[in-house]
Amino acid sequence: MMKLAVIGSGYVGLVAGACFAELGHEVILVDNDAVKVNALQRGDVPIHEQFLPELLERHRNRRLSFTGDLAAAVKASDAIFIAVGTPPTEDGEADLSYVESVARGIAGSIDRYKVVVEKSTVPVYTSTWIRKIMLLNGAPPELFDVASNPEFLREGTAVTDFLFPDRIVIGADTLRCAEVLRECYQPLVGGAYYLCPEAIPGPEDASVPPPLICTSAKSAELIKHACNAFLAMKISFVNAVASICESVGANVKQVVHGIGSDSRIGPRFLRPGIGYGGSCFPKDLLAFRSVARECGYDFRLLDEVIRINEEQRHRFLRKVRKALWTLKGKRLAVLGLAFKGGTDDLRESPAIAIVKCLLQAGCEIAAYDPAAAGHAAESFAHRGMSFADTAYDALQGADALLILTDWEEFAALDLDRAYDALRYPIVIDGRNLYEPELMAEHGLVYYSMGQPDAVPEKRATRTLKLA
Ligand code: NAD
Repeated sequence: MMKLAVIGSGYVGLVAGACFAELGHEVILVDNDAVKVNALQRGDVPIHEQFLPELLERHRNRRLSFTGDLAAAVKASDAIFIAVGTPPTEDGEADLSYVESVARGIAGSIDRYKVVVEKSTVPVYTSTWIRKIMLLNGAPPELFDVASNPEFLREGTAVTDFLFPDRIVIGADTLRCAEVLRECYQPLVGGAYYLCPEAIPGPEDASVPPPLICTSAKSAELIKHACNAFLAMKISFVNAVASICESVGANVKQVVHGIGSDSRIGPRFLRPGIGYGGSCFPKDLLAFRSVARECGYDFRLLDEVIRINEEQRHRFLRKVRKALWTLKGKRLAVLGLAFKGGTDDLRESPAIAIVKCLLQAGCEIAAYDPAAAGHAAESFAHRGMSFADTAYDALQGADALLILTDWEEFAALDLDRAYDALRYPIVIDGRNLYEPELMAEHGLVYYSMGQPDAVPEKRATRTLKLA
């Protein structure tokens, strides 16, 4: 059992803290947002994440505590994980001021050997900077090491991603430091956790125990940026292929099946749509491009990945115009506001960007999202915007249905009910959740990304609403 502090109780910090407690460690979660700390102490669960409520319930006030007192948490801990935000600055670099402020705070409380671990996604050389800042602020050089332990969890499946990872990367420049990190993850890499009867159930295809990859701190920092850039590249690649499919009348799902069956490529992250979003890919690509530029490398491939991604939302908006002709005064049902299914996170959500454009064009929008609608209602009020309690409420009387987030429940709509609720049977799907033929069978005119449009010939048992 180790004593750990996790600084920052957001998506990454809260999940990492709860999971480390699940692995048997004693964890203090620190945040400088007093409202959040109070809420966590009271038992609230501030984010939507599968299995997180169970873990917090299991370990709160036992192996997991919450505080705003950074110094006390550092003093009590063997390893301190920094999991604060690293948002982009205006010119695309990572804003490391939160990391720097935490490093200064930690420096004053180093009274015995400790490992300071970057969990936040940061540019290469950040570990060197953290060390410099800590030395400048009085931390004795022999009493600490700085390591990088990038986090690969995905929102929506964050807990299982943490406990059943493809790999764990630890970037440490001394053996002593690597040993501390290895101990933190020992219940996973040694496999003991997976034998516990109360272990959180993992995905069917999980390969346990996960390998531990030990690298230098700089390599670990680069692994995280390169990994996110590669995944974003896969998404933009398939979006570009989808555009060509549309031009020639091919079906991108069939093309992707053919591409993804190549074991050198694999099918994951080859789903066309309205583009990637969220708090990671957009900012990490910009940051990686800046890092490359600073090192003298003009990483133009990343420019293109970003350009294709931005173009996707315009492509989608063009589809809406093609389906509806004029937008002013149209009433649209929007399913999905979060940047992807399974999360309530709206940061850099392409769905939100599209909704804003449609509102600006004079549309009225009734939106439904199973987890993110509450945050959306708080963060943007527009007189044309309303929030529905169910998907079918949103659809009622709408001129068209727009699917913007890949929530599982949106792929399982009762299509006859949807048809009845809509004023016109038009569906514009930015996530390719349906087969065009199926939509046509249900009397729905269906536009999607890289698949042929579907126009029903006739609706057997009902009056076709569209002339
Ligand atoms: P977040 O904004 O959800 O959480 C950051 C938390 O840090 C907030 O609660 C904030 O109040 C707190 N904080 C800021 N300054 C602080 C300080 N000085 N002391 C204590 N707490 C402080 O961010 P996140 O999504 O958890 O991301 C954190 C980092 O992890 C980022 O670098 C991100 O790129 C990386 N990351 C995120 C994900 C993801 O899916 N969200 C996945 C992998 C890596």
